[in-house]
Amino acid sequence: MAPVSASSTAAAILHCKCPRCHQGDLFIHHSHYHLSGLLDMPDTCPVCGRDIQIEPGFYLGAMWVSYPIVMLLLIVSLLVSYLVFRLDLLLSFGIAAGLLLAVLPLILRYSRVLFLYLFARD
Ligand SMILES: [Zn+2]
Repeated sequence: MAPVSASSTAAAILHCKCPRCHQGDLFIHHSHYHLSGLLDMPDTCPVCGRDIQIEPGFYLGAMWVSYPIVMLLLIVSLLVSYLVFRLDLLLSFGIAAGLLLAVLPLILRYSRVLFLYLFARD
């Protein structure tokens, strides 16, 4: 197998690919907004056979990845809408909540991908 470069690792994370082969899909459904099967993952990589379901409850740790992402989005959204655009505080919170709801599927998926890359790389 060819050596893995940093750019291919970044591209594999962006496209939710296996941390070992960078080719197998980590999620069964390709669309990030397929809400009924949003977090469905195969047990093993369909290309290289790497175990993706590391252990029961492994992906609970992905909450520690999603939390700072959510906080960053919330704070930036509030600062921009309240301080830059001088919107009402309640409206700013509404915009931040709407933004978080809109990107929640992305946050959930990428927090799992990042957690897998951080703690289960080969
Ligand atoms: Zn693989």
